[in-house]
Amino acid sequence: MPVKYSELKMELSQQHQSIIDGIEAVCKKRNIKLTSQRKIVLAIMLKSEKAMSAYELLDLLKIEEPHAKPPTIYRVLEFLLEQDFIHKVESSNSYVICPHFNQLDHISILIICDNCKQITESNSEQVADTLKALAKQQQFQIKHSVIEIHGLCHTCKLITQ
Ligand SMILES: [Zn+2]
Ligand SMILES: [Zn+2]
Repeated sequence: MPVKYSELKMELSQQHQSIIDGIEAVCKKRNIKLTSQRKIVLAIMLKSEKAMSAYELLDLLKIEEPHAKPPTIYRVLEFLLEQDFIHKVESSNSYVICPHFNQLDHISILIICDNCKQITESNSEQVADTLKALAKQQQFQIKHSVIEIHGLCHTCKLITQ
């Protein structure tokens, strides 16, 4: 059953709503359930437009679900990570929403600006193929991989010059 976004305290833009609808369609195909709690967390991540820690997410989830506790948010994050709907940014112990949510087991390349903290995700078949070939040489099975590239984005580079 679709969540009526108007029932949530937060308002979602058309664009964000259609992303969540897209994720929900993927869930249906995979025979898994996008509960309203999972939708709320996705909505919070979409609205923030930056990487968020589990505790930042929990604080915002509490606006909708006052009884939410740390295990609540970790359960939701675990599910979203497993489905590749979000990625964990290991260097900052935070989470970002993935723009390639319909591609299970993709190799995520996070380009992170260390100044403004903006993160963009890239997806490269070439890089994926190279990593898969390397893993195969070692008879290693890749479960998940996130590549982090740190530096300065275009805007910050101009400012700091
Ligand atoms: Zn991704
Ligand atoms: Zn920047």
